[in-house]
Amino acid sequence: MTCLAVQALVTVIYKENDMSLKLQLNLTQNACDLQICEDYWAFNNKSDYIAHVEALCRKYGISTQKLFKEVGQCFAYLDDVRCDYCGYICPVQHPADIPYFRSKSNWICGVCEYDMQQAYYSR
Ligand SMILES: [Zn+2]
Repeated sequence: MTCLAVQALVTVIYKENDMSLKLQLNLTQNACDLQICEDYWAFNNKSDYIAHVEALCRKYGISTQKLFKEVGQCFAYLDDVRCDYCGYICPVQHPADIPYFRSKSNWICGVCEYDMQQAYYSR
């Protein structure tokens, strides 16, 4: 299998209504790595997460460490969930984060949350 260089650094994993999950690849990642990340993030949160990870490792013939290394290098974020204050996109670390952040009526990014805490304690 040949691994081509990826054309676009940002890829949309799925889009339903106005909701989308996007992946931003690390510059060192190629099309094969992207495929692994896409498959990983395609998890629907309904089936067994461990089984999903194991199935991916079998499919690509890689260890779980290698899988998480690739997934960890690729920045995943929700394009439709934005910080209430600065508008920054919402990063996700785990597929379960997706329904969690979407279920919140408003989300505040780490930087704004920190600023607010500082403002609160300096009063
Ligand atoms: Zn913010």
